[in-house]
Amino acid sequence: MLKDNLAVVEKNIADACKRAGRSRSDVTLVAVSKTKPNEMIGEVYALGVRDFGENYPQELKAKHDTLPSDIRWHMIGHLQRNKVKYLIERVCMIHSVDTEELAETISEQAVKHHLVMPVLAEVNMAEEDTKFGIRPQDAEDFVRRISVLPGIAVRGLMTIAPYVENPEDNRVHFRNLKNLSIDIGRKNIDNVAMCELSMGMTNDYMVAVEEGATLVRVGTGIFGARDYSAAI
Ligand SMILES: *Cc1c(COP(=O)(O)O)cnc(C)c1O
Repeated sequence: MLKDNLAVVEKNIADACKRAGRSRSDVTLVAVSKTKPNEMIGEVYALGVRDFGENYPQELKAKHDTLPSDIRWHMIGHLQRNKVKYLIERVCMIHSVDTEELAETISEQAVKHHLVMPVLAEVNMAEEDTKFGIRPQDAEDFVRRISVLPGIAVRGLMTIAPYVENPEDNRVHFRNLKNLSIDIGRKNIDNVAMCELSMGMTNDYMVAVEEGATLVRVGTGIFGARDYSAAI
C-alpha cells in the first residue's frame, strides 16, 4: 500500500515538474510521518525516501533516536522555544520559524552545539487568523532581523496554505510566496539565500510544484489518514 501511494506521489511530482519545465531533482519530497509508527517509516525508507517531516519535538526525538541515522529530519510544525533543545542536533532544517524569539532560541542552541541551523521563515500567505506565520508584508523585515543571528542560515520561505476543496484556489498563495522570495532574494541580505520554498501538502502539492516549490510536505498521500489519538 505504501509502495503504491509513494509511486503515485512520485509520478505526480515528476509530471508537475515536466509541466513546469523543472527538473525533478529540484524538488525534495518530505514524507510527513507525524503520528505514524516506525514500521511504516521504515517501509518508506526502504523504498528510498530519506527526508521525513515531523511536527512534535518529542515524537521527532524518539523516532530520530531509533531509526536509521541517514534520515534527514525536517521540523515542520509550530515550535515552542523550550522544545528547541530536543531538535537542535536532530534536524536538518526548521521550516516553521515564525517569531524573532524562536529564532533567537534556535540561534543560542545552535551556537552552543557548534552548528549552523538552516531555517525557513513561515509566512501566513492567506493571512488566516487561525494560522501561525508572519504576514507577507513583514517577511522581508523579519528575514533581515533573524539573518544577523549567529548559528542560523536563512534558506527560504515556507507556507501552510488554507484547506481548500479545489487545489487551484491555492495557486495564488504559492505564486505570491515565490514572488516574495524573489523580491527578498534581490535584496542580497548577508547570510540569506532564498533557495528553498517549502509549500504544498497532500491536497495541493502538484500546484505547488508547478509554482516553484523545492520542498513539498506530503503526509496523508503517502501514509494514509492520521489517527491523532495514537500520537505521542
Ligand atoms: C501535517 C502537515 C503536513 C502534511 O499534511 P498532509 O495533508 O497529510 O499531506 C504538511 N505540512 C505541515 C506543516 C503539516 O503540519
